[in-house]
Amino acid sequence: MYKISEIVQILHPNRTFITDPNSLVQHLFYDSRKIVQADNGVFFALQKSRDGHHYIKEAYDKGVRNFVLQLDEEQEQLFPDANLIWVTDSLESMQVLAAYHRQKFSFPVIGITGSNGKTIVKEWLYQLMSPEYKIYRSPKSYNSQLGVALSLWGLSDQYNLAIIEAGISEKGEMVKLENMIKPTIGLLTNVGVAHKAGFESKAEKIYEKINLFKDVETMIFPNRYVEDIQLPYRPRKFSWGYDEGLSLEVYSLKQVDDKFTVATLFYGGRTFAVEVPFVDKGNIENAINCVAVMLRFGYEREVIASRIKELQPVAMRLELKKGKKNSSIIDDSYSNDLDALQIALEFLNQQGQHPRKILILSDLPGVSLTDEKSLSKLKRLLSEYRLDRLILIGEILTQVADQFAVPSVSYASTTAFLDDIRSLQFEDSTVLLKGGREFHFERISRLLVAKSHDTVLEINLNAMENNLNVYRQLLPKHVKLMSMVKAFSYGSGSFEIANLLQFNRVDYLTVAFADEGVDLRGAGITLPIVVMSPDENTFESIVQYNLEPEIYSFRVLSSFLNYLKGKGISSFPIHIKVDTGMHRLGFMPDEVDKLITELNSSAILQVKSAFSHLASAGNKEDNTFTQQQIDLLDQFTRRLEEGLGYSFLRHIAATSGIELWPQAYFDMVRLGIGLYGIDVERHDLPLREVSSLKTNVTQIKHLAAGETVGYNRHGVLHRDSKTATIKIGYADGYDRRFGNGVGKMMVNGQLVPTIGDICMDMCMLDVTDIEVAEEDEVIVYPDIKLAAKAIGTIPYELLTSISQRVKRVYFYE
Ligand SMILES: *Cc1c(COP(=O)(O)O)cnc(C)c1O
Repeated sequence: MYKISEIVQILHPNRTFITDPNSLVQHLFYDSRKIVQADNGVFFALQKSRDGHHYIKEAYDKGVRNFVLQLDEEQEQLFPDANLIWVTDSLESMQVLAAYHRQKFSFPVIGITGSNGKTIVKEWLYQLMSPEYKIYRSPKSYNSQLGVALSLWGLSDQYNLAIIEAGISEKGEMVKLENMIKPTIGLLTNVGVAHKAGFESKAEKIYEKINLFKDVETMIFPNRYVEDIQLPYRPRKFSWGYDEGLSLEVYSLKQVDDKFTVATLFYGGRTFAVEVPFVDKGNIENAINCVAVMLRFGYEREVIASRIKELQPVAMRLELKKGKKNSSIIDDSYSNDLDALQIALEFLNQQGQHPRKILILSDLPGVSLTDEKSLSKLKRLLSEYRLDRLILIGEILTQVADQFAVPSVSYASTTAFLDDIRSLQFEDSTVLLKGGREFHFERISRLLVAKSHDTVLEINLNAMENNLNVYRQLLPKHVKLMSMVKAFSYGSGSFEIANLLQFNRVDYLTVAFADEGVDLRGAGITLPIVVMSPDENTFESIVQYNLEPEIYSFRVLSSFLNYLKGKGISSFPIHIKVDTGMHRLGFMPDEVDKLITELNSSAILQVKSAFSHLASAGNKEDNTFTQQQIDLLDQFTRRLEEGLGYSFLRHIAATSGIELWPQAYFDMVRLGIGLYGIDVERHDLPLREVSSLKTNVTQIKHLAAGETVGYNRHGVLHRDSKTATIKIGYADGYDRRFGNGVGKMMVNGQLVPTIGDICMDMCMLDVTDIEVAEEDEVIVYPDIKLAAKAIGTIPYELLTSISQRVKRVYFYE
């Protein structure tokens, strides 16, 4: 803990307003939504995609009294009992504080960077070296400018080794990370191809990354990445690879039974073998990186071999699944410690779809009966996140169950719990499962999760937040954002997505039909919701559920007015659709005066926005037309505002408009497909793919040349072949036109074509040229844009066609 007066000294602020110099600081906050317990915290108002200064009040209301601010505004009167510290750059100040904290510890700090494998190697080193060291490690993949600062803040004298991840996306970033982390040992993991944005070449990327190793004692790295590179620094080098003369030489890698790999290594004059329990290249490289680190720490070769053999896959995901009886299940298989528990509880806290929240928790390795500190931290966590019920599993938690301030039941083992599961109620709840590996919570998950077949659509919620922020950054501050969640959120889900958007404070949601809006209201969505196609039968739900209809013609206007008449309603929110050239729905430009007259004839309706839709924003040759649409909306809405005597929001740009037409932003934009990571026009935006349709190989067949595959015998084999049958067909939304080689899927990193006609629930792949086993994972659309093109359609159609019987799984990394 630091006194705020110390922090003032560390930060050299521009100005301060200190009411209590002795106020203690233990927690760093940067997101007001995540504050549940404000004591001993300091809130940093960061200017990221959203401006943290807007949330000072919210943090203050939650009880925070220490603030680091960047905008030099007079806030003393608003927060007279707070400590206020004004700095030039609040993120930089947080980094300064983290760096200061880091310098207090003299134990070794391993700094890990690379494009892939950072988190896995970090978790593995933790598994491998925990018997000897008390290891602190960055939580999850906290490796950004902010993530590293937060990671370092967790260092304390209860540890004697730290492993910190560093990740960068553009030039100049690593120097800042190095300044904070000051690693004593550096490790470079796999370096992949250059990112879309940020770097011109792989070499440039490596140069940037190795800035992390400026002051290390030893730098550990696979030689192949650094071969052609002159290291600007002179640390001790610990290189490994196939060449002679490296610190650690790989003599051979031999794969056994598709199950594990025997690596024969040479180090310090002796040959030794380690059995790596993986067969894929990436994990073998990750494992040898771990061997190198252990050798550097002086581990015996025998100890290394015996531990590498026991490496466990690292699950970094937190998955949100649909449960039975109107419940949702959060499955978190990430490491089982108190920090990870807190992250999972935060996620649970964000879920608004069910009234009750339940945690099922197993014994944690870090919490013993005698360890007062950890036990009290656990108690604090469990009381902060308002749980409705706590289910404890394991000998240790059972003994302390009565000490938690939440209604709880406890069981000595997972089996004992499962025997009793019928007596417990999980309806209308969100259930967080957090269990150690040896407690096998997958048995619980299997019982609670709704059944469906093997094909799943995985939705990456981090990626979606990333994309939202990418588009937000293109917008000037005053422009609002409406998110289009029609068609089951472009196929990816309903309340799960809406909930994420609401949490991320978009301004409006839009659905196609009233039913979709009613469902969202039922799931706790309180944002304004626009219904694009209201019809007479749904007016009642529109009013009852506070939905806002789009009015596009005099017919709809008068029938809605008729419906509302005599109900005592006034100023009901509506949105006026204007046809500026799309010629789908909307009032024509010359109808504006008549519209004004009708709207002014009563006070029943209030125009919240008037908008139009660009027909061809992505086509350069139509630029004049697009500009004309923009001008028409401008004229129409000016006239409408004049006529009505009040103002409303104006909007016309969807994703392609956001990307290419800043002059079309008006007061709001409507983000659709871009949220799902499909860049429509520009290719320089750092978007991430959100959804991935996956299935498994059900059966493999070896067939002779001349045989045929599937209906109508269309799949003719011209050579001896191997086929894989997978459980996805046109009833799942896999278009029949993908048959006979038009569709290509990804199996074990290789593209393979379909063979024969697509069946209703299944189809077949030609896997003759690749290594594949039954149950291997299949990625159905490795490149959704190419896939769409292959059958003459667009990604929108492929996404929205994925049938509802395909299970959606949402995850956070
Ligand atoms: C679907 C839709 C959008 C979103 O379009 P994208 O191209 O997916 O961004 C915006 N406005 C209206 C009226 C729409 O129907």
